[in-house]
Amino acid sequence: MRVLLVEDDALLGAAIQAGLEQSDYTVDWLRDGAQAASALRTAEPDLLILDIGLPGRSGLEVLAELRARGSNLPVLLLTARDTVSDRIAGLDRGADDYLVKPFDLGELTARLRAIARRRGGRAEAVIRHGDLVLDPASRAVTRAGESVSLSAKATMILEALLERPGIPVSRERLELTLYGWNEGVDSNTIEVHVHHLRKKLGKDLIRTVRGLGYMIPKQ
Ligand code: CA
Repeated sequence: MRVLLVEDDALLGAAIQAGLEQSDYTVDWLRDGAQAASALRTAEPDLLILDIGLPGRSGLEVLAELRARGSNLPVLLLTARDTVSDRIAGLDRGADDYLVKPFDLGELTARLRAIARRRGGRAEAVIRHGDLVLDPASRAVTRAGESVSLSAKATMILEALLERPGIPVSRERLELTLYGWNEGVDSNTIEVHVHHLRKKLGKDLIRTVRGLGYMIPKQ
């Protein structure tokens, strides 16, 4: 899952980025609200973590612009203590959740998983497709109760497809899931991971939709 992090505090931002990358999120990090607003006009992350107190433009302004454009990008706000009015304003402007600083990284990732779950219309913590189960927290994949060993990146692709059953996901979109702005991308890397997934999970699970990308059919 690809996260855009907007946080001007260098130490906190670095800690969040490192922590999320450990949990297999791909993280792009900006420190300025105006830059974030401009990046969000073209970039399409899966989740936005947005500090409220930012140079350039405030997180609340960035959020308001995003929602005014009709974007339903999931947003988690980071707020300082003693700013109840900011938290209320943030939720009323369309934030999905907020965390008050200082917070525990474990709580941040748990809240991101909860947001993704609600957006996917799931009540259950795991993603299920027939006898295939992916646990977004532990990154474990099982089939009929048997553990399936997959690389971190193959698991990220499987998660991206399972989150959108019946909808083709383009190769470019999958590349965005795996790689941040500053990382190089091998041209055939998605094909290699999909090949690996098909070998492990059966060739029929992931369909190739010509010209559109890959898809796991709806059940
Ligand atoms: Ca700040």
